[in-house]
Amino acid sequence: MTQDAFPLIFELTRPGRVAVAVPEAGVPDVPLEQIVDPSLLRHDPADLPEVSEPDLVRHYTRLSQRNYAVDVGFYPLGSCTMKYNPKVNEDAARLPGFARLHPNVPDGLAQGALQVLWELEQMLCEISGMDRVTFQPAAGAHGELTALMMIRAYHEDRGERRTRVIVPDSAHGTNPASAAMCGYTVVTVPSDRRGNIDVDALRQVTDPSVAALMLTNPNTLGLFEERIVEVAEIVHGCGALLYLDGANFNAMLGVTRPGDQGFDVMHMNVHKTFSTPHGGGGPGAGPVAVKALLAPYLPVPTVEREGDRFRLDYARPKSIGRVRAFHGNFGVLVRAYAYLRAYGPLLRQVSEAAVINANYLLSRLRAHFDVPYDRPCMHEFVLSGRRQKVQHGVRTLDIAKRLLDYGYHAPTIYFPLIVDEAIMIEPTETESRQTLDAFADALIRVAEECARDPDTVRTAPHRTVVARLDEVAAARQPNLRWRGPVRAASTR
Ligand SMILES: *Cc1c(COP(=O)(O)O)cnc(C)c1O
Repeated sequence: MTQDAFPLIFELTRPGRVAVAVPEAGVPDVPLEQIVDPSLLRHDPADLPEVSEPDLVRHYTRLSQRNYAVDVGFYPLGSCTMKYNPKVNEDAARLPGFARLHPNVPDGLAQGALQVLWELEQMLCEISGMDRVTFQPAAGAHGELTALMMIRAYHEDRGERRTRVIVPDSAHGTNPASAAMCGYTVVTVPSDRRGNIDVDALRQVTDPSVAALMLTNPNTLGLFEERIVEVAEIVHGCGALLYLDGANFNAMLGVTRPGDQGFDVMHMNVHKTFSTPHGGGGPGAGPVAVKALLAPYLPVPTVEREGDRFRLDYARPKSIGRVRAFHGNFGVLVRAYAYLRAYGPLLRQVSEAAVINANYLLSRLRAHFDVPYDRPCMHEFVLSGRRQKVQHGVRTLDIAKRLLDYGYHAPTIYFPLIVDEAIMIEPTETESRQTLDAFADALIRVAEECARDPDTVRTAPHRTVVARLDEVAAARQPNLRWRGPVRAASTR
């Protein structure tokens, strides 16, 4: 659809036009001033669009059609696990008994919901090798903070004031941010030449002032930490705890368990690993699973089972308290539960297919891009666009933008930070060989264009509704006010 056929909703506005017609109330009107403090009332009407119901529906439907989503096409966004979300999960989450349950009903009237949480906890413990789970954290980063608060409570309970948290240089930015937010000093350790955490450097900085090491496994290079057992011994040898950023759990399901690798605590991004839609800012959940030594510090309430009844337990004196209202994003947890009930016995196949898909794509792309850490990958891998930058003056950002012209969501770029011109690709297990081949063909074509026709790549995208937006200005100085029927120069 052309831009002119897609007016802003403010351009559709006609004074007095409404989308709903509400009948007379049948009770006397009460002036607002009688029930609201008059100083709080606005004097000028809000500057809102006035449109009919069909205009309104069309406006939002057209907007939705401009969204790229995993239901539209391949979404190889590294680190984000944009797998297909089975629609049966949506059916489960929308069951009125779940969707309409008030979070304040007494336990006796919420037995089914509590049972879902309790059973989900059992399943996540079995998969992770941990002992207890809290569901309150709203996403992975929130899970990190919650875990660090428990770690701090654990050390303080033992009379120890530890001040430092170790984070590898390949970590997701949320790791050092969470540690700093929790009041810790962040110590960065480098990666070695194989892409593992540098164990000698780790040994040097680990002492009794360290509260925890936050590790991602497989790490953000898509590589399994080959010396994880040794790493756990070093950390535990100083009385510190080992935290897993579980964002990459999709590579290990049913194959190996973090609890068996020596981790004491981890978060899971159920919106990545256990499906549930995300990517447009929708809700996620970041359950934190702990070994028994941290269980006393879990947020309240926990869900407990007594015979065939379930209840919420607030009587946990060492708890760090609440980290979120009620039980977290319950609807997302129902989706994860439905996913696990459907795929539980097949989880190993899920991870194996994710790993095979990534290695297949890597093998197809290896000749066309630099591969800074070239060894078999797990569920994702990291290329470098250095060659294209040095030889043709085309940046990784340009390559990502050009992929949009071929109908694909771009991979993650410029992360992890330790790879120059990083291109991070995660295909997930839900894509077919045909999709992987078509994507590889497109990316190889872009690599060829870098040599043959670099200008086309440098000025891409050419086929999208908007071209290059100033993301930084949009984030730092958001202009959300409509100032008349003008179009930004960068739209087409
Ligand atoms: C996604 C991700 C996070 C943060 O998780 P959110 O759910 O987005 O808060 C942390 N670490 C890694 C490695 C991730 O990929």
